[in-house]
Amino acid sequence: MIKGNTELRKYTTIYPKSVYTINSWDDYYAYGSKLLKQSNNKKLGKVLSRGAFKGKPLYSLSLVEREMGCPKDCLHWDSCYGNNMPFAHRFKTDNDLVFCNILIDEIFNLLIKHKQGIHIRLHVLGDFFSRYYINWWKALLVCHDKISVYGYTAHTPNSQLGLEIKNVIDKIGFDRFAIRFSNSTVKMSANSVEYEPRLVASKNVSLKSIPCPEQENKVLNCVSCALCWNKNFDRVLFYTH
Ligand code: SF4
Repeated sequence: MIKGNTELRKYTTIYPKSVYTINSWDDYYAYGSKLLKQSNNKKLGKVLSRGAFKGKPLYSLSLVEREMGCPKDCLHWDSCYGNNMPFAHRFKTDNDLVFCNILIDEIFNLLIKHKQGIHIRLHVLGDFFSRYYINWWKALLVCHDKISVYGYTAHTPNSQLGLEIKNVIDKIGFDRFAIRFSNSTVKMSANSVEYEPRLVASKNVSLKSIPCPEQENKVLNCVSCALCWNKNFDRVLFYTH
């Protein structure tokens, strides 16, 4: 059975007390902590020990699932991973400009602290929520080559925001903007096992998917795996949480 309040699951997280609205610097100061968190998530790990970005610390950003960016046709709308994360702080905003200004302030401070740069997981929860926000990441990555990003999006590659994301991947390169399309037949995707039958039905797609090694207990965590941001692997396969 799927966890949580059925009404809340129609449009937001089932943990409303863990939501922080950041529409102004005052909201941010009232929150009193950072939007980007150094990972304390067992699955993610803290410092990259493999791949091109070895040595970089991993930071992550969580938005409010279902409410911030998530497309309604997400295969996991109801069974979102966030249903199992009662303690994660989730952010929402109606003010893209302020939200991005706060992020840039945090990122610049992190770059002073970490000379080797930082790797950012977008988004543990939630998704890219506007054209402005996506293009803000593009501009940031164009200007600062020590920042790299990885993650997944439920926007389909041909949707308006999916096309914007694709455009950033093309401009920056998958190396530093490693956003995989979830449950999609395109290359550089990340699919759940429930999606496999659709991949099978899709005639022009090679079915070579690599199961997430962490889920098969072959690696300890993402920082010691690095597969998701490796462009040599077209598809990653996930068992559903
Ligand atoms: S494939 Fe590797 S990097 Fe991707 S989620 Fe699994 S452990 Fe993390």
